[in-house]
Amino acid sequence: MNRLWVRLSLMITGILFLVFFWQFGAILIDAGLRPGRSESGTSGAPGGPPDELPTSEILRRLLTYLALSFVVGVVGGALVGRVVSAPVSAMVRAARRIGAGDLATRVTMRGSREIRELAATINGMAAELERADAARRNLLADVSHELRTPLAVLEGNLQAALDRVYPLDDAGIANLYQQVRHLILLVNDLRELALAESRQLPLDRKPLDLSALAGETVQALEPLAIEQGIRLSVAAEPLPPIEADTDRLRQVLFNLLSNALRYTPPGGEVVVAVAGETGGVRIDVRDTGEGLAPEDLAAIFDRFYRVDRSRSRETGGSGLGLAIVKGIVESHGGTVEAQSGGRGHGSTFTVRLPA
Ligand code: ADP
Repeated sequence: MNRLWVRLSLMITGILFLVFFWQFGAILIDAGLRPGRSESGTSGAPGGPPDELPTSEILRRLLTYLALSFVVGVVGGALVGRVVSAPVSAMVRAARRIGAGDLATRVTMRGSREIRELAATINGMAAELERADAARRNLLADVSHELRTPLAVLEGNLQAALDRVYPLDDAGIANLYQQVRHLILLVNDLRELALAESRQLPLDRKPLDLSALAGETVQALEPLAIEQGIRLSVAAEPLPPIEADTDRLRQVLFNLLSNALRYTPPGGEVVVAVAGETGGVRIDVRDTGEGLAPEDLAAIFDRFYRVDRSRSRETGGSGLGLAIVKGIVESHGGTVEAQSGGRGHGSTFTVRLPA
């Protein structure tokens, strides 16, 4: 038997018997040698051999001590075992339920400090598993929702073309091509996001001149800004290089800048500022565009979050751009946040990276 209470009972029985024996056995043996003195107040004949208790009496008393120790030991062992092992058993049961998929299970915090710490750890682990499970379910639901729309358009158009109901002209083919491109963009973004969020994005860290990279990205997007009638500029101070993955940070700048251009009306302005600050560098992408309401600011980095769902999808965004930005920046040990004066008052996205 390996049960705690059995082991505790045996231990207590043994200890009690030893104590009893130590305390009373010596007296008993002593009394066994001089019985007359202890019981009647008279000793045996002075100078003569002492009278002895019968061996059976000594055995009887020893067995009584043993029985008493055993009863006290078993009762004590069971009680102590229950007090000590009850919280542990409860945790074992809870851990089994969590393992079987019941992620809402939590352990009651009781017992010694160590046991309570263990219970808190198990509860934290269950909460994290529950959160990850909910995120996985949401992601699956979101991904299937996002894939369904372009696939439905493709299917409908191709079916109509096959049935000769709606022959495909160049404009029709161009529309289908856009849907396919959107699907490819979405699948690529999903892969990037999955890697970034699982911290498995391979980072090729090399010394990087962030100000130069900001200048290059702005230059690449200049034609788009001119086409949309938006003033695009960069204000970057010379900085010591930081250890970072150039391609990934180019993607961060590209995502933030193309969002700024997408959500800023003609006549607006977009500015990228790069500056050093204590412990690292800071990039601000400021625009005079649509702006964001406080409730949107909190959710904007979630996957597939769009302030205006239909409009954003039409403009070609996957709804994953900012989630990817966050994943890449956090993989570099940095942070990203959004600020806005409210709807219609422009937005600023700030990335901070350690030096
Ligand atoms: P999308 O592909 O839809 O642009 P993002 O993850 O890049 O996806 O952005 C999520 C949402 O955040 C966008 O749909 C848009 O509503 C909002 N958003 C992003 N950048 C800006 C910006 N600079 N100004 C206003 N709204 C923005």
